[in-house]
Amino acid sequence: MKKVIVQFSSINALMAGLFDGVFSVGEVKEYGDFGLGCSHALAGEVIINKDFLEADGDKAVKVMDNDELLPFVQVTTFQPDKVVDVNDVSKNNLYWHLAQYLLLDNVFVAVKISGRFDELKIRRPFVQHKPYPSVVKVFEQQVVDTVEDVTGTLIGFWTPEFFKELSVAGFHLHFIDTTHKLGGHVIDFMASKAELAFERKQSVEIMLPVNEEYLRKNLKMDDLNKVIKQVEN
Ligand SMILES: [Zn+2]
Repeated sequence: MKKVIVQFSSINALMAGLFDGVFSVGEVKEYGDFGLGCSHALAGEVIINKDFLEADGDKAVKVMDNDELLPFVQVTTFQPDKVVDVNDVSKNNLYWHLAQYLLLDNVFVAVKISGRFDELKIRRPFVQHKPYPSVVKVFEQQVVDTVEDVTGTLIGFWTPEFFKELSVAGFHLHFIDTTHKLGGHVIDFMASKAELAFERKQSVEIMLPVNEEYLRKNLKMDDLNKVIKQVEN
């Protein structure tokens, strides 16, 4: 069984303002049915939990069509190494919970947390129009919701710190509720009882765009890490 995480494009490209979708949902589907990303023109956050779902700034969650395009996405298959019941799990202590079962500092991990969340802080952007503003400007205008008592699933990845120029270091999680009405990029969460499933991932394959815009863009960003931290946390 393939344990590879396939990442389409680089986080630099997104942070450098390449918001146009490049890879079709149909194409990405061939590599797995578990993951996260963002949609064309940063219209929404993408949650891949069997279905490819998009949660945008003002509309409800929708299932994406195969011909829709994505600028950045990470996808894999998910066959958990372990599924455990956990108490009092939060973004702050998730590392500690996982560390009870595996050494994760130097490997990638696919993570799924299901249950009723006592508190959840999520974010969704609004669709952007050309000429695109900077990514920092985009995320200053995002919608942030803090909700209580919501049942659903967190899907995402743990990326080791030393891969921070490749992807979002630490935990990057997206949420989808069981009724498919609420979703987004997770800023914070707390669940007094939940099911934690994880799979260690030894490899990452990177599929780079080869369109003109990407090939010509200067992706050397001196302040990349600062920008990612500002935008993703
Ligand atoms: Zn995200």
